[in-house]
Amino acid sequence: MTAFQLGPLLHEGKAKRVHATDRSDLVAVEYKDDATAFNALKKASLPGKGTLNCQISALLFEHLAGLGIPTHYMGLGESANWMLVRPVRVIPLEVVIRNLAAGSLCRELPLPPGTPLDPPLCDLYYKDDAYGDPLLTEARLERLQLVTPEQRLQIEALARRVNDELRRLFDSVGLLLVDFKIELGFTGAGELLLADEISPDTCRLWDQAVADSQDRILDKDRFRQDLGGVVEAYGQVLKRLQQACPEPTVYR
Ligand code: UDP
Repeated sequence: MTAFQLGPLLHEGKAKRVHATDRSDLVAVEYKDDATAFNALKKASLPGKGTLNCQISALLFEHLAGLGIPTHYMGLGESANWMLVRPVRVIPLEVVIRNLAAGSLCRELPLPPGTPLDPPLCDLYYKDDAYGDPLLTEARLERLQLVTPEQRLQIEALARRVNDELRRLFDSVGLLLVDFKIELGFTGAGELLLADEISPDTCRLWDQAVADSQDRILDKDRFRQDLGGVVEAYGQVLKRLQQACPEPTVYR
């Protein structure tokens, strides 16, 4: 006997599908094996990636929830690439925290990859593929009125807290959290929750024990840079996290 019945497909994104359930307070997220990069100009199917990202996200959401950080996560589904979450109105913002310079930051500013950023940088991007997810200024954010100034501060504080906790967790299993992106949403009651996923698709993670600048990469940069071994790297991240975290619970 399951606690819910699956309903129709509500939304299909690049890496996940969101399905309704017969309960208004629950939606089901299916993680796909599809990989995309560079605003979907580069595409592939990587068998096993969906399950790994689902399991990694579940474990990280449960870890953060245990530390009092509000998330949309409710539990894993019966299938390994499914999870149950609370429905939220996702704010079209990509909130990026950077502990070390990498990726777009190094393309846009004279900062060599790996430059430590202390305090970590918090960059907000407007989430809209048609515009290429542009970096926002405070004035542009205010103009778009996506959030109030108070919510903007609340979002940054939450992102920095997530960074502190994830950095500590990854460090405990020999991984360096270089940067990551989170998305947030509001419940019907107006509560701000961490939403979407937290996985090697959305984080840069380097193996602390490996010096080589390519071999140490355990995240989506392996796909972006055609380094191979993408699923193996994600598997390594899950294996390490399993050493530090309990098995995520199945929603019933
Ligand atoms: N990121 C993401 N989705 C995006 C853009 C970035 O998850 O649409 C993540 C990315 O994986 C990295 C961090 O956000 O961990 C910072 O990405 P960056 O701005 O350096 O852009 P990129 O180099 O990925 O184009």
